[in-house]
Amino acid sequence: MAPTHPDTAAELVDSHCHLNFPRYQKDLSAVRERAAAAGVRRTIIPAVDLAGSREVAALTTQWDGCFGAVGIHPNSSNEFSPAQLPQICSELLRLSRFAEIVAIGEIGLDFYRDHSPPDQQEKVLRAQLQLAAEAALPVILHNRDASAALLDILEEWVADLPSALQGRAGVLHSFSGDASVAERALKAGFYLGFSGPLTYPSAATLKEVAAQAPLDRILLETDGPFLTPIPFRGQRNEPAYLTYIAERLAVLRGISLAEVAAATTANAERLFALP
Ligand SMILES: [Zn+2]
Repeated sequence: MAPTHPDTAAELVDSHCHLNFPRYQKDLSAVRERAAAAGVRRTIIPAVDLAGSREVAALTTQWDGCFGAVGIHPNSSNEFSPAQLPQICSELLRLSRFAEIVAIGEIGLDFYRDHSPPDQQEKVLRAQLQLAAEAALPVILHNRDASAALLDILEEWVADLPSALQGRAGVLHSFSGDASVAERALKAGFYLGFSGPLTYPSAATLKEVAAQAPLDRILLETDGPFLTPIPFRGQRNEPAYLTYIAERLAVLRGISLAEVAAATTANAERLFALP
């Protein structure tokens, strides 16, 4: 029998789920129905490359509660030559003007997978940070084994932020750093996004960070199809499972699920200027 979802009194926002990926193609409407039944009526779909950015922009026009981000993931940043970067950024800027595109992302650094050389990743990241400032949209950041380099770049960027982005620069999605990384990110004005690993038995440092971070700077996300929370770990992740992550955060902080839902929903609305 399927576990019953934790009951949320208020609604939740899944701030990061790759619903444009092929793994959702066959049953996307069922995925959306299950999300709505679990109280997750708004989802932000981040892109990882230019083709995906076009897909996401198109998807956001198709149903209520679907928002998106456009951008080039660090692991896709070697799919074009540096000379093509200005052209790619101008296409991203065009796509960013779709009404339901609420962020530039996901962008960042990945020194773990090593799909692209670090200097190319940094170039692509810096160009997109500039683009975000121009579009006046917050950024959704991917970080894997690159906290120091990423924070150096972000601190430089926020020092010269347009007024429209003050207090809403972006989020470190699927946060996986320790307390000192969290402290630097929060100080620079970023939100922290927490996902499935919050439910894993081993994630002691992560749980500590999630318990201590200011409640008004926390977002929840599934990062589907990846990082599926317990009790579905090993299966495809989807927005309906966000309730398990919310419930875990409530337990860690000793507050009610309704408080977690209300705060994280307000945070997502503020950061992404959701209607
Ligand atoms: Zn992602």
